[in-house]
Amino acid sequence: METKAEQLPLFTLAADPPAAPAIPYRAGRPAPRGRQERAGALQSPGEERGTQRHRRRRRAAPQRQREQPPSATAGHHLRQRAFEVFAETLFPTRCALCDAPGTVLCDRCARRLPYIDATLACPRCGAPYGRVQCTECNPVLMAPFGCKEPPWDGAVSALVLTEAARRVVTVYKDQGERGLARPMAAIMGRYLPPAWLADEPAVAFVPATPGARRRRGFDHAELLARELSWIIGAEWAPLLAAPRRLDQRRLSRTARIQNMRASMRALPGATIPPAIILVDDVCTTGSTLMAAVEALREGGAHTVYCATFART
Ligand SMILES: [Zn+2]
Ligand SMILES: [Zn+2]
Repeated sequence: METKAEQLPLFTLAADPPAAPAIPYRAGRPAPRGRQERAGALQSPGEERGTQRHRRRRRAAPQRQREQPPSATAGHHLRQRAFEVFAETLFPTRCALCDAPGTVLCDRCARRLPYIDATLACPRCGAPYGRVQCTECNPVLMAPFGCKEPPWDGAVSALVLTEAARRVVTVYKDQGERGLARPMAAIMGRYLPPAWLADEPAVAFVPATPGARRRRGFDHAELLARELSWIIGAEWAPLLAAPRRLDQRRLSRTARIQNMRASMRALPGATIPPAIILVDDVCTTGSTLMAAVEALREGGAHTVYCATFART
């Protein structure tokens, strides 16, 4: 049976990511497609240090390759390369879903992911079957958020958050397999409607809390946004301040929404572009995205689209 992935030339975009740079863009190394001016903002203190304890040891090899400092000497490069070959031999890269060696997401598993059929999805919120009549962004369900419709101009999600999709996300952000960012962003890129790209949007992300970033050693949505911006040839821009740490477990739904709203704000000093694609890994209730979109609008954004890898 033909999978939805194979039916997907829905939009014009990049099914295949461009040739990969060996190291993520960062200060001291030329960034692709004229984004050098922002490269210095990409790396935050502690990003590379961060905790690696959640990472499976066998997944460590590819990341070490990415963290190589650009100023290294030739001898250092050689030693580093030898170490990488050694580490890759001991702890080979494996598919997040089937453990097949050689890739972080094998073609077979990628084809079987639970893709949303964009021809049936709600153009407003990305719900899988809401094209004609959406049961997820109607005025009744929006009432707790104090609005009749979502505050964004459009939303897409590539996958339904099934066990397989959740597993990819977990391996990516909680087990430290940063190499998954590229195939995840490539999948998301296929879902971006051409009309969005015509607005020449910048790609922003919903930042993790400082605690989550410390725990994981990186900001998972930031890396997704960087990869997606590379794929679509757009500007990458950190526009939102990291939200304060919130304990929402004892709060009612309405209180959680208000709490989230209060926590999200534009990054002080950031110039908010008129059109933005806001990236996050997963959309569940939508309250985080709504709060982020409202913060961007308060900061001056005119058009805000949301793109997530998976949604409930
Ligand atoms: Zn696989
Ligand atoms: Zn909808």
